[in-house]
Order: sequence, then structure tokens, then C-alpha cells
Amino acid sequence: MYTLILATRNPGKLTELKAILADAELAHDLVGADAYPDIPDVKETGVTFTENALLKAHALARATGLPAVADDSGLCVDVLGGSPGILSARWAGRHGQDLANMELLLAQLSDIAAPHRGARYFCAAALALPDGTERVTHGELAGVLRTAPAGTGGFGYDPIFQPDGESRTFAQIPDGIKNSLSHRGKAFRSLLPVIRELVK
Ligand code: IMP
Repeated sequence: MYTLILATRNPGKLTELKAILADAELAHDLVGADAYPDIPDVKETGVTFTENALLKAHALARATGLPAVADDSGLCVDVLGGSPGILSARWAGRHGQDLANMELLLAQLSDIAAPHRGARYFCAAALALPDGTERVTHGELAGVLRTAPAGTGGFGYDPIFQPDGESRTFAQIPDGIKNSLSHRGKAFRSLLPVIRELVK
């Protein structure tokens, strides 16, 4: 059994990533960054999802001496030219205020009609080894933004994000289905063969 560190302290994300990776029956023990409380959080100083995912994965691989996997993700809104993008988690000013972020976005889009409310979730998934080897994969999911929240599941912008081809928001879709559709699911499923090849 090989140990693989998942570079997140967010319990929701850890559960989601474990579920995605467990489906692949990897011969790896998946451990969250919380198992290493002394390692400081990495500043997301990159200007792309890819840069930030790599920063997080390399920092953890270096600090633990173990292979590390990280993701960076966000919501890119067409009419905002791709914002909030890498700023999704702190769009309202401070990191991780999901409700404030969503309310600000709804207010910004209040005059925008349905045909122009397109958006997509994007995710970069990175694997870094202690020797500096790195790989990145990507996943995305297109949809539209509702004018009011619906549903209680998920997190972040899920109550206003309706994937293309769906009549429900991401917050109304059960977790298992969400993982099969999501940007994160796609990015990590693409990373699986790379993990199998490089982490031994
Ligand atoms: P990260 O943890 O730095 O990758 O930031 C991701 C941010 O993007 C979250 O805080 C959310 O605001 C948004 N986001 C990314 N993926 C999702 C998702 O699957 N659902 C809802 N919001 C998401």
C-alpha cells in the first residue's frame, strides 16, 4: 500500500476526492493534509489554476517526503470574462465565505438575462513527487447560473449552478452523480493513470 497525501484541509473536498479516487481501486492509502497539522498552508500566489494546484502539491510533497495530490478549482462566468476564476473562494473579500461569494455574484449578474448567464466550473489536479516530478490534468463542466439559489447539497456556488442538460442545480444533485459529472471528478479521473504509473 503506497501513501498518497491529498493537499486539502477542507473535509468536504477530502471526502469528495476520496470517493473519486476510491472508485478507481488504487492501491494507495489516501491521507488528508490534516494529518500534518504542523505544515503551514501554502499561499496561492499563482495566477492560473494549474500554477496554484502545483504550488500546493509540491509544498506538501517536499514537506512530507511523500507523493502529494492537490487541486485548484473555481467558477468562470462568461459575462465576467472568466471571473471569479482563481478568486472564486475569496470573491467577496475573505477566503471561504461561500454564502457572501454567491450573493455578490448574484447581485453582479442581476440584470443579465438567461441566454447570457453561461458559466463553467474548472479544476486543475496536480501530482507532485518529492523528487520534483510533476503532472497536471484538467476538467471542466459547463452550465448556467440561476437567478436564485436552490438546493442544500454541495458547497460554494452549487445552489446557483445548473449543469448543461440538467434541470437541477448542483446543490440538488446527489453526491455520487455530482462526482461523475464534476470538473473535479473529470480532472482526478484523468490523473489516475498518471498516479498508477508514477507512484510506486
Ligand atoms: P480552492 O479550494 O482554492 O480550489 O477554491 C475553490 C473555490 O471555487 C471554492 O471555494 C468555491 O467557491 C469554488 N468551487 C470550486 N469547485 C466547486 C464546486 O464543485 N462547487 C461549488 N463551488 C466550487
